[in-house]
This record gives sequence, C-alpha cells and structure tokens, in this order.
Amino acid sequence: MRIQTERTAQKEHSTPLFLTSSFVYDSAEDMAAAFADDTLDVNIYSRFKNPSVDEFIEKICVLEGAEEGVATATGMAAVFSTFMTFLSKGDHIISASAVFGSTHAILTKYLPKWGISYSYFDMNEPTSVEELFRPETKMLYVETPSNPGLDIIDLKYLADLCHARNVLLVVDNCFATPAVQQPIAWGADLVIHSATKFMDGQGRVLGGVVVGRKELIHPLYLFIRNTGPSMSPFNAWILSKSLETLFIRMDRHADSAFKLATALQGHPALSGVKYPFLPDHPQYEIARRQMRNGGGIVTFELKGGLPAGRKFLNSLKMLSMTNNLGDSRSIASHPASTTHSKLTEEERQAVGITPGLIRISVGLEHPDDILSDILQALQTEQ
Ligand SMILES: *Cc1c(COP(=O)(O)O)cnc(C)c1O
Repeated sequence: MRIQTERTAQKEHSTPLFLTSSFVYDSAEDMAAAFADDTLDVNIYSRFKNPSVDEFIEKICVLEGAEEGVATATGMAAVFSTFMTFLSKGDHIISASAVFGSTHAILTKYLPKWGISYSYFDMNEPTSVEELFRPETKMLYVETPSNPGLDIIDLKYLADLCHARNVLLVVDNCFATPAVQQPIAWGADLVIHSATKFMDGQGRVLGGVVVGRKELIHPLYLFIRNTGPSMSPFNAWILSKSLETLFIRMDRHADSAFKLATALQGHPALSGVKYPFLPDHPQYEIARRQMRNGGGIVTFELKGGLPAGRKFLNSLKMLSMTNNLGDSRSIASHPASTTHSKLTEEERQAVGITPGLIRISVGLEHPDDILSDILQALQTEQ
C-alpha cells in the first residue's frame, strides 16, 4: 500500500493540502466516466473522496492491517454510519454496556425508533454475551479498553463467537490506537476510531475512521458519500501529520500512565486505581496478551465520592479540566458530575461510572510534574 501521496511538480516533502471541494475534467467523456464509477478510485467531489483524506485513510489501513477504510467528520459519525449501513429494521445488535456516552444514546434512543433492538452485556462477565445472540443479531459492538471504565475483553473469544454465527464484530479502538492494539489481528471485522483523541493527539481537530475488508467498506463508503458525514481535507491533513508521531507519543503516554498508576496505588484518599497493565486489573492477563502497552488513561476512585470529585478538579493546578482525552496535555475529568451527569444513578452504574471516578488522560509533560499536581490536589481530600 502506498503511504506517501505522490509529490506534485513542486517536489514538496510534506504532502500538500488538497483544500478543494471538487475536481475538474478534461472532457465531457472523462466527466461522464467519473460519474459512472461508484468505486473509491476517482476524484469527483470532496464529500465522496479527496487526496488529503485518502492519505489519512491509507495510513490507518497500514497501521490497523486493514484492506480499506472510510473517514468521517467525527468519531460519532463513524459509529452512526456503521450502524446505519449494516443494521436494518428488525435487526438486533449486542453491545457491551460500557460504551461511550453518545454511542449509548444511539443504541438506546435512536436505533429502537427505527425498529432495531439492542442488548447490553457486562464486559466483566464476558460469557454472558453467549445467550444474547438471536437469529436476527447482525452486529456485536465493543470498546476495549472501555471509556471511562477501562474494562477489557478478549477479542479472539468474541470474534470466534461472532464468526460461528455470521455476526459482524465491530471494535471501537479509540483508547488503544493501532500503536497499542490491532483488533483485526484478533478477528474483528471493522475497527472504528475517534481520530479526535490520540490520533490528533493535540486537541485540535475532530475526525473519525472505519477500516476493514473491502467488501464491508464499500457499502459504508456509499452511505457516507450519499449522506454526507465526510471528513474535511484540512482535518485529514492535520491527522496525517499527527500519525507520524503516534508510536512515540503512545509509548510516552503509556510510560507516564504506568508510573502514575503505580505511584497512586494505596493512596489514603483513594479506594482504587485502575490501569490495564497493573497486575490487579481484573482483565490483566488479556491486556498483556492483546495490547503492546497499557495505553494513556488511568482512572481512580475517590473515597469521598461526588463532592470529593468536584473538589479534586478545583484543586488541580497544571492538569486541564476538560472532557477531551488523548491530548499532549494531561487532562482530568469527573464523569459523574459532567459527561454522565444526565444519566440516572442506575444508568451510570450500568456503564461503570461510580460517584468518585476520576479519569486522567496522561499527557506528554514530565511524569513527575503530572504526579505532583495530582498528589497536591488529593491532599485537599484528607
Ligand atoms: C470520543 C469518543 C468517541 C466519539 O468521538 P468524537 O470524535 O467525539 O465524535 C467514540 N468512542 C470513544 C471511545 C470516544 O472516546
């Protein structure tokens, strides 16, 4: 697969940005031929296809070991387009209950409106998924590690279950990135990313991508081409540049995250610390087998619950208080009082959010600075 887009006559080293909405033809015949072609091969209009977007897609395909891909305006556009392409009225989808908040909203509020039913299972009881398959089940959807609970599931186990039943296994690989985990190698059919997170890595642009086998990507491409949630060439250009540093960034995120998680273990203000590569993580063995490192997210539980969560955020000096993640700057968030505050206590429990849960997206600052800011903020808890 060609990773570097061909150079123009200017011989530039960095790929130029193809900021154009459409493409011109030399003759009426060429134009007619372009429109007769519904493959992914001809530049017509940037809602369909654009060289800057293609470069980003090709890079993700190489990193994930996939044949083809499509890029979207956001991660949610990638999730929604995948559901709309492969699920029809009467179909059923099985999903881990620990999924991103907006994915939870699509599954529970929108899909049922169109006659598509869903069932949730708990990733901490993986075999419970087996009894949920029905004749009309078309897709199994998981995030591993999950956001924000950091639950992990054995992808090979799920892939075997799905393939024996002709069900698509779709994996949101946003928390790991292909630098840490390649779900296709374990049998996933489609891999989804919010490129907004670690792929951009600097909190600048939104984006999404889905990769997989050619015959699955083609209908997804036609859905996106016709309905319009396409990625902007500018965002694709930014994201392609970011991918050049993905491995080096993920290694540093993970090194610092492991250091932080280890240092916080046993802290008197905390009832627990969770990180995929800590031996007491409930799915530690699977994480070690499936992931190159533990990724860049650490969570911990404050003994003081909801009020302690607010106090902790207000006491931070260096870490940013924002709901994004995967940024070069460290970020703290308290899901129960922010992103998941509209859910009922029971719903929060179902997606693994406890009142004192703090999620840290460990950035690229010096690990000692990250730890000392968190320690001084925890001091106010005692
Ligand atoms: C952020 C996120 C999404 C949604 O991505 P957007 O780019 O914000 O639309 C989906 N899944 C996971 C796991 C995420 O963290």
